[in-house]
Amino acid sequence: SMASPALLMRVVASAYSVAEKAATIVRKVMAGGDLGIVEKAGPNDLQTKADRLVQMSICASLARKFPKVTIIGEEELSTDDVAEDLIENGHCEEILKKPCPAQYTGIKEEELVIWVDPLDGTKEYTEGLLDHVTVLIGIAYGGKAIAGVINQPYYNYEAGADAVLGRTIWGVLGIGAFGFQLTEAPAGKHIIVTTRSHSSALVNECITALSPDTVIRVGGAGNKIIQLIEGKASAYVFASPGCKKWDTCAPEAILHAVGGKITDIRGNSFQYNKEVKHMNSAGVLATLRNYDYYASRIPNTVKESLVP
Ligand code: AMP
Ligand code: MG
Ligand code: MG
Repeated sequence: SMASPALLMRVVASAYSVAEKAATIVRKVMAGGDLGIVEKAGPNDLQTKADRLVQMSICASLARKFPKVTIIGEEELSTDDVAEDLIENGHCEEILKKPCPAQYTGIKEEELVIWVDPLDGTKEYTEGLLDHVTVLIGIAYGGKAIAGVINQPYYNYEAGADAVLGRTIWGVLGIGAFGFQLTEAPAGKHIIVTTRSHSSALVNECITALSPDTVIRVGGAGNKIIQLIEGKASAYVFASPGCKKWDTCAPEAILHAVGGKITDIRGNSFQYNKEVKHMNSAGVLATLRNYDYYASRIPNTVKESLVP
C-alpha cells in the first residue's frame, strides 16, 4: 500500500479546501450587503466582516488539523471559540496524489509557518472591484516560501451566468503551479502592474524610470501576481513600504514554482520565518521572465529611499 502523504502535501491539500470555504464566506458577506467596515491605520487600511470571518475560518481550520504549525494572519483577532460553521475539514484529493519533492518529505509540523491574508484587496472589495480580491495562504519552511494557495472568489464574475465563479490556484516549489494557464507577457512590451490605492510620488517615480509601454493599476498583491503568470503584465513594481509578509508568501511560492522571481525593490529576497518583521519595507519587484531587465533599471535614488 502507499505510504501516507507527506505533511507538506497534506497541508497544501487542506489549505486548498480551506481557501474554497473562505471564498464562499467572502461572497456571502458581500451578498448580505453589510460589510462592517473598520478603519485600521486609516482610510486606506480597512477591515471588513469578510476579513474577520475568513481569518477565523482559515486559522482555526488549519490549527485544528495541524496544531503545531505556526499560523500568522493579518488581522488581530482571537481564534479561540470560532463558530463551528466556520470550520473546514476537507482536503483536495488531487493534491494528495502528487509526490512530495524529496527535500520536503521530512518536514515536521513545528517547522512550518503559514502566512494568511484572509482577504487581499480589501479596499477594492469595498469599492465593488470584486475580481481584484484574493484569499492568500502561504506556506514557509526554513524562511522560504515553498507552497501557496491563491483563491480568487470572483474570478469570472463579469463573464455571465454560465461561467463558473471563482477559482483556486496552488503551487509547490519543485512540483509547479496549477489552476490557471501559464502565459508569458507579450515579448518586447513593458507592461507594469502596480497599486491603485496606495500610490506615492516614489511609486510613480520608479515606474516612470522604467519607461513602460503600459501601466495597469489594480488592487491586491495576489491579483498582481496573477497578472504576471497569466501574461497580462511583465513586471509588478511597488516602490513603497505597505505590503506585508502575508501579501507576498503565497504569491511568491506560486511565482517561483513556475520560474518567476520576486524580491524587494533593492533585489533582496523575502524571509518568512516566524520571527521576521511583517512589513516588506523596501517594496516589491516581481516578474515571470526578464527579472534582470527591470531590476537593472530601478534608479539608485529609489533604492536608497527604501530601507529594508
Ligand atoms: P495594493 O497593491 O495597494 O493593493 O497593496 C497590496 C497589499 O499591500 C494590500 O494588502 C494592501 O493592503 C497592502 N498595502 C500596500 N500599501 C499599503 C499601505 N500604504 N497601507 C496599508 N496597506 C498597504
Ligand atoms: Mg493584503
Ligand atoms: Mg488582507
